[in-house]
Amino acid sequence: MRKFYVNLAERKYPILTGQGILSEAGTLLAEAGFDRAPIVISNAKIWRLHGAVLERSLKKTFGPATLIRIGDGERYKNHSTLLAIYEGMFRAHADRRSWILAFGGGVVGDIAGFAAATFMRGIPYAIAPTTLLSQVDSSIGGKVGINTKEGKNLIGAFHQPSAVIADIGVLKTLPARELASGLYEVVKSAAIRSEPLLSRLERKLPEILRCDAGEMEPVVVNTAKIKAEVVASDERETGLRMVLNYGHTVGHAFETATGYRRFKHGEAVAWGMLAALGYGREIGLLQPEECARLTRLIHRIGRLPSLQGIGVEDLWSALTRDKKFRGGSIRLILLRRLGEAEIVSGIRADSLRQFLRKFLHESSHAETRRRGDGTNAGK
Ligand code: NAD
Ligand code: MG
Repeated sequence: MRKFYVNLAERKYPILTGQGILSEAGTLLAEAGFDRAPIVISNAKIWRLHGAVLERSLKKTFGPATLIRIGDGERYKNHSTLLAIYEGMFRAHADRRSWILAFGGGVVGDIAGFAAATFMRGIPYAIAPTTLLSQVDSSIGGKVGINTKEGKNLIGAFHQPSAVIADIGVLKTLPARELASGLYEVVKSAAIRSEPLLSRLERKLPEILRCDAGEMEPVVVNTAKIKAEVVASDERETGLRMVLNYGHTVGHAFETATGYRRFKHGEAVAWGMLAALGYGREIGLLQPEECARLTRLIHRIGRLPSLQGIGVEDLWSALTRDKKFRGGSIRLILLRRLGEAEIVSGIRADSLRQFLRKFLHESSHAETRRRGDGTNAGK
C-alpha cells in the first residue's frame, strides 16, 4: 500500500492506494479519524460489483452503514438526485456528526461531495474512487458539484475530503472505453509535468491497458501526485492549477459541438491535446519529434470517436462561448517540451481558427485512411 498527502495546511488529507485495499477500508478510515459508520453513496452497478467487500470491512470496524444508491451516469448528477440524497440522509437520522463515503466514479464523488459540503452547512466525507479518472483526477482537489440544464458543474463548492482510498484492483471491471478515457487524463498530467511518466506509459502501455495491478499502481500514484502537487500550490485555481486544463479548452468545444453525446470527456480531451500539440508545433513552440511522440502515444491507447461532421464553425462557436476567447487575442495552455506546459497569451484568433480548420480536415482524412487500413487488414 502507498500513502501520500494532499498538502493543504489544515485541510491536508491522505491518499491511499493499493491492490485490494477496499477490504481494509474500515481500518484505514478509522485511522483517518472517522469513528462511526458512514452514509455510503454509490450506484447499483458499482455496488453489485464491489459493494460486498466494502460493506464487510465497514461493518467490522464501525457496525452497519447506511447505503444510498443513486442513478448511474452523468445525467443523474443533478438537483433531483441531490434532493434524494438529503432525504435518504434525514431518513437515516443523519446529523452534524455524520459523514459520507462516496463509492464510485467521478459522478458519485462530485455529487456525494456536494451533499457533504451542504448538508447542515457541511459534514466530512471520504472517497473510495472506482474509475481510473476518479482515482487520478476527480477525487483530488475538492471540487464538488452538480450539473444544471444550463451546463456542467455550474452549481458547486470547494470541499476537501478527509481521505481517499483508491483500490487499484477495482479497475479490472472497468469497461475498456472508461479505462481509455481515464488514461487520456493520465497522459495529460504526464504531458504537463512529467516526462518520466510519459516514457513509463510508452513502455508499459499493453500491461496498463490490461489493468495489470503492478504496472497500474505506479501510474495511478504518479498521476494522482501530480494533481495533488498542483492543487496544493493553487487550491482555488488562480494560476498554476490552470495547466491541468491542457487539452481541455478545445476538448470542451468538441463536447459542446456534439451535444455531449459523441465523446467521453477523456476522449474529447485527447482530441483537444492533439489539436494543441499540432498548434504548438505550427507556431514553433514544440519540436516536431516531441509532437509526433505524444501524438503516437495518444493513438496507441485506442481508437477515438471520429471528428467527422464537425465543422470549424461549430467548433469555433463553442470555443468563443468561453470567456478566455473574447476579443481578437486568446490564451491557451501549450507544451514547451514534453513534461512542461505554459500558459501562452496573445494568440491571434484568426491564426488559431485557420489551424483548427486544417486540423479538422486532416484528422477526418487520416481517419478515413485508418478505417480503410482496418478493413483491408481484416480481409
Ligand atoms: P462515472 O462516474 O460516470 O463512471 C463511469 C462509468 O463507470 C459509470 O457507468 C460507473 O457506474 C462505472 N464504473 C465505475 N467504477 C466502475 C468499476 N470499478 N467497474 C465497472 N464499472 C465502473 O465517470 P467518471 O469518468 O469516473 O467521472 C466523470 C465525472 O467526474 C464527471 O461528472 C466530471 O464532471 C467529474 N470530474 C470532476 C472533477 C473534479 O475535480 N471534481 C475532475 C474531473 C472530472
Ligand atoms: Mg478533465
